[in-house]
Amino acid sequence: MHLGEVIEQRVAVRTLQRAAAAGTVAHAYLFHGDRGVGKKTTAMSFAHQILCRNRTGCGSCPECLKLSRGNHPGLRALEPEDGTIKIEQIRSVQSQVQYAQEHHLIWIIDDAHRMTPEAANSFLKLLEEPPAYIVFILVTDHLEQVLPTIRSRCQVIAFTRLSDAAVAEALRAKAANGGSTQDDGQKIELVAKMAQGSIGRALELWESPLVDRRRWVLEQLINIPDMDLYEVLGLSHRWEEDRSLVALDLTLILQWYRDLWCLKEGLERQVVNMDYLHELSESCKKYPKSSLEQITKTIIDLHGQLERNARIRFMMANLLVQIRKGVFA
Ligand SMILES: [Zn+2]
Repeated sequence: MHLGEVIEQRVAVRTLQRAAAAGTVAHAYLFHGDRGVGKKTTAMSFAHQILCRNRTGCGSCPECLKLSRGNHPGLRALEPEDGTIKIEQIRSVQSQVQYAQEHHLIWIIDDAHRMTPEAANSFLKLLEEPPAYIVFILVTDHLEQVLPTIRSRCQVIAFTRLSDAAVAEALRAKAANGGSTQDDGQKIELVAKMAQGSIGRALELWESPLVDRRRWVLEQLINIPDMDLYEVLGLSHRWEEDRSLVALDLTLILQWYRDLWCLKEGLERQVVNMDYLHELSESCKKYPKSSLEQITKTIIDLHGQLERNARIRFMMANLLVQIRKGVFA
């Protein structure tokens, strides 16, 4: 495993590769960017390259063999327990840094923004006087929630969204592994567009009942402008109250109204649901732009509420009514 295997992220990879080759590895890095774009993979690859006897992540030296078996003492990981990284966990890191007096010790700290204030302060002390051989790699998709004092002591490395082509390539590899079927091509294209540059998100969508569900959801959205409010409420009542399914539904619904907005703005090339272009064009005539923006905003809000245990049926009823009321009077 080495940095050359990381998908895209050329700026990050070049920076890290240079540091590994020149022996100028920093004490602390902060990798940030959207989830599922390769931050942890890059952290692991970087760690392999630092620990490898040949500094290349060769895969065959004794260090690399230990790494591939997952029992190299120089690579350790920390992640939230029950939602947060606690001060006890940081104290445990502190007590283990002795090891770094003679050997490289790399800590990958995932979801670093989830440190409690006590943990963050304790960690800060560790950053202020790091032992010579220690390397912290903090990983987060919420940079703004990391203490500025921690941020300023790390080399901050930004990860960008991947191209649709890279996401599609990863999906193609997955499909090939799983014994590809004929309609995978279309599914790959759709999922790659919906994943917005995140392989993590793409893999979740891939495993979801996407194709059939999408057909059903879009059918409802196409019909809503012609329903009366009574029928819309009936539809919300029939909506399944499965949280992960509703999360998928909201992604599909959001994409539909974004597509309508794109058509309004003359941005046809950015439309994701291209196979529904005719239906989109018809629906587009029924909504003013302001409604589309309002609906989009509501869907994004609901997505956030869904994680906080909102009442799903009530939530869907509100959304569907808003969608119905949004059409031209
Ligand atoms: Zn090696």
